[in-house]
Amino acid sequence: TMTIRNLTRRFGQTEVLRGIDLTVEKGELVALLGPSGSGKTTLLRIISGLDWPDAGQLTVAGGDWLAKKAEERRTGFVFQHYALFPHMKVRDNIAFGLTVLPRDRRPPPVQIRARVAELLQFLQIPHLADRYPSELSGGQRQRVALGRALAIDPEVLLLDEPFGALDAQVRRDLRRWLREVHDATGTTTIFVTHDQEEAFELADRVVVMGAGQIEQIGRPDEIYDHPASPFTARFLGLTV
Ligand code: ATP
Repeated sequence: TMTIRNLTRRFGQTEVLRGIDLTVEKGELVALLGPSGSGKTTLLRIISGLDWPDAGQLTVAGGDWLAKKAEERRTGFVFQHYALFPHMKVRDNIAFGLTVLPRDRRPPPVQIRARVAELLQFLQIPHLADRYPSELSGGQRQRVALGRALAIDPEVLLLDEPFGALDAQVRRDLRRWLREVHDATGTTTIFVTHDQEEAFELADRVVVMGAGQIEQIGRPDEIYDHPASPFTARFLGLTV
């Protein structure tokens, strides 16, 4: 379980996160949904250790997550434009996170190869193993990016608009595929999007964010049936 308490983040005079309280259960797939500038990416960056809050607590499985250095947090991250390493084949991109682990935690090469082969199968991309990123479609690249994020068996998987640059049909396919991958691995997943259809179709629970605050948290049907604030209703195009 990940527990976030009263997290705040300021950039100069602007309070970008204004007291975020959020609990994500182990194995849950949660979507952070909100308009541009609502603070979704900032929250994700703080969880991953790329940024720091000004105040608040964040624990994972009871442990103080903020006290850990970024490289000690087992997070997998997929961005919208997740630059795969262009000079590395798909298999080496996926292996990357394992090859850079500290020596005492790094598996031997034979085990890394086995893990990559297993992931390629599991992600349904074994035929891409020896290609370079420039030889892949956008959707294939994001499949590889997810493979790279999953290779280290992350405690938390963070996705920031991972399908944002893809066309509608590919998005829908990848959404379904991601849901299957999630259900098979049970990895705790936080998925950022400003696309409500994506959030509502994919997530166990949706967190609606507006201007640095959480407006509502609930299952998709709960939010649709009972939008808790005029903001949520307006953002979702519903009437209260
Ligand atoms: P988007 O969907 O456009 O990415 P978002 O909901 O992810 O939006 P954030 O990227 O978290 O929002 O940004 C929230 C606010 O914080 C924005 O107004 C942004 O300009 C500001 N901000 C983010 N990072 C910084 C920074 N390093 N310095 C100053 N302001 C920042």
